[in-house]
Amino acid sequence: MANKRQVDASVAPGQSEREMNRPVELFEAFLRRRGLHITQPRRAVVETVFALPTHFEAAELWAALRGSVSSAATVYRTLELLEQAGLVRRVSFGEAHAHYEHTLGREDHGHLVCRDCGKVIEFSDPGLTQVVARAAARHGFNLSEAVIQGYGLCRACQAKRL
Ligand SMILES: [Zn+2]
Ligand SMILES: [Zn+2]
Repeated sequence: MANKRQVDASVAPGQSEREMNRPVELFEAFLRRRGLHITQPRRAVVETVFALPTHFEAAELWAALRGSVSSAATVYRTLELLEQAGLVRRVSFGEAHAHYEHTLGREDHGHLVCRDCGKVIEFSDPGLTQVVARAAARHGFNLSEAVIQGYGLCRACQAKRL
């Protein structure tokens, strides 16, 4: 993975249709373990989530689904289930509303968040989560995930201020 990547890039090139179907299949298996089943609205939510850019807001998801799914509650509840299934995770970019990102098939990465335009730059570094993992080990802490984020100004916003 390139160490700098603009996240508004959508589906990775060469992603096959089979891989595109995986989120639905994995979600279906998760639901089955919970004694739930995949309904048409739930399927629409999963498909839309994975058609959105890597990072998205719940409101964007609802906007994309309005018309095909009748209740916002269903959308938000399904998003919660996707989070529990480990297919998306909630991330905070220092704003009041939550952002989400796809976790399926993605490696651990950090974020650089621009305070001006809200752009999120992703980067990966093998040492990234090791610091957190080492601290967790020292404290006997059972670590489930580590999120590294930096806040500041992107190159374009710095140029605007000159
Ligand atoms: Zn910016
Ligand atoms: Zn990310």
